[in-house]
Amino acid sequence: MGETSKRHAVIVGGSLGGLLAANMLHRAGWTVSVWERCAEELSGRGAGIVTHRELFDALAQAGITIDDRLGVEVPARVTLDRHGAVIGEQPLRQVLTAWGRLYGLLRAALPDGTYHLAADLVEIHQDGASTTAVFRDGREARGDILVGADGIRSSVRQMVLPEVRPVYAGYVAWRGLVDEARLSPATHAALFERFGFCLPPREQMLGYPVAGAGDTVEPGKRRYNFVWYQPADEGGALKRLMTDDQGRHHPDGIPPFLISAAVIAEMRAHADRVLAPQFAEIVRLTEKPFFQPIYDVESSRLAFGRVVLLGDSAFVARPHCGMGVTKAAGDALALADALRDPGRPVPDALAAYERERVRFGSAIVAHARQLGAYMQAQLRTDEERANAERYRTPDAVMRETAVAPRLAA
Ligand SMILES: Cc1cc2nc3c(=O)[nH]c(=O)nc-3n(C[C@H](O)[C@H](O)[C@H](O)COP(=O)(O)OP(=O)(O)OC[C@H]3O[C@@H](n4cnc5c(N)ncnc54)[C@H](O)[C@@H]3O)c2cc1C
Repeated sequence: MGETSKRHAVIVGGSLGGLLAANMLHRAGWTVSVWERCAEELSGRGAGIVTHRELFDALAQAGITIDDRLGVEVPARVTLDRHGAVIGEQPLRQVLTAWGRLYGLLRAALPDGTYHLAADLVEIHQDGASTTAVFRDGREARGDILVGADGIRSSVRQMVLPEVRPVYAGYVAWRGLVDEARLSPATHAALFERFGFCLPPREQMLGYPVAGAGDTVEPGKRRYNFVWYQPADEGGALKRLMTDDQGRHHPDGIPPFLISAAVIAEMRAHADRVLAPQFAEIVRLTEKPFFQPIYDVESSRLAFGRVVLLGDSAFVARPHCGMGVTKAAGDALALADALRDPGRPVPDALAAYERERVRFGSAIVAHARQLGAYMQAQLRTDEERANAERYRTPDAVMRETAVAPRLAA
């Protein structure tokens, strides 16, 4: 399209999914433009990300060189009981990185002038030959395809598949980061070089080290990242969590700085009551804890003529496999592979992508749902009750959590 004979991809959403798609399509011979709703660069989102071999393979194919600074490597996993004693250990080497680190690498790899901020998609048009995105401020972007990489509440998905919506899983994840230097020597020794777990009834705490400020992995300057799952029924506890100190309810997500001081104080007091003292210390020292309600999203289709869904806009699995970014990378790779041959009609290529990734997305959502069943506020079926029993032991949790599942082909 446009001035060159190259085909052009309009990518809506400039987070990890959008950047992975842009880099991979660019390497497959396409020109790309990325359109992100936020007005400022996204680099500030600070959360830990578990990596898998599949993610490294995909990053290599996107032309991203990985070095030792990607993240912190741990050799093993450990589960602590309520009193801080070790009740299970498993060797498992894994690299833990941070959202901002991956974003920085992928953003730097994009050609200059292709990333556009403050672009809120409001309309899509398509005909037999092209598709056009229209943004709130009147800008338009025309391409051979439009990739919806705009996350769990995707505007693109609402336009092409309005019946698919996020379904609340019945629990939330509290998250936070603490500077390594602030931890007591005892907590540092018990947890820091480990992927750690603690399993209060119907809850799950996990934590791991990640890079510190400026992406440093220098000992003493790293951080510990935690994710603490707790049940919260939709009408009661969740509503209270999502209501700020002014009494305003934020049903689509409360910004971290608006979380009520009373809610945070209760969460910290609960940590002292139910968690191993080492984890309670980490929660106490976390300055800006925030939470995310956990959802499932399952799309029955991903390709709509020249429009296609990718990453969290296509499928959201509960985070227990730690696979969200790896799945987005797999989506991007499959899309670029399907679109590599300039002679293949675009709708055919997108239909092939859909066949492959609907299968994978559905399987990962189902697996993560099994892993998370025991945290749900309400268990609705016998199958959910059976999964809740199966995945509540330290051995099962350490074996399956944040590990890429072997899914039937
Ligand atoms: C508690 C928790 C822990 C997790 N842990 C891990 C982990 O360890 N490992 C892992 O791989 N994954 C993890 N994930 C999942 C991971 O964060 C997501 O899968 C991943 O970030 C998906 O990226 P995305 O680019 O598809 O969507 P998003 O990151 O949500 O990006 C969507 C982008 O689209 C933009 N956008 C939205 N609407 C519009 C619009 N109308 N116009 C233009 N732009 C728009 C948004 O501003 C945003 O920047 C976790 C998730 C949670 C909740």
